[in-house]
Amino acid sequence: MLGYYYDGDLSVPKKRKSGGRSGGKRGRSKLVQCHSCGQLVAQDKAKKFTVYTSAVDYRLAKELRDEGAIIPRVSKIAYYCVSCAIHRHRIHIRKKTDRKGKER
Ligand SMILES: [Zn+2]
Repeated sequence: MLGYYYDGDLSVPKKRKSGGRSGGKRGRSKLVQCHSCGQLVAQDKAKKFTVYTSAVDYRLAKELRDEGAIIPRVSKIAYYCVSCAIHRHRIHIRKKTDRKGKER
């Protein structure tokens, strides 16, 4: 009985218990678009950040701020794929011992 006790893919060890996803065993989650490269990533795998944008040009905004004006900034939720989040230094690669939810 070859492969009778086969439980999952034993040839490849699991790097993270969660598989790099959040939210437990929820099944398939909806897809979101990466803010940087436009790739479709699962929402529980994507990295979520708040991006602040201003309607005023940044040089003009700086002048106005020096004069004491308050410029409203619009917050927008942006999702990054793991590759872009690492590339843009939003998240960092951690040591195996520092990772949360390690199984070893
Ligand atoms: Zn991306």
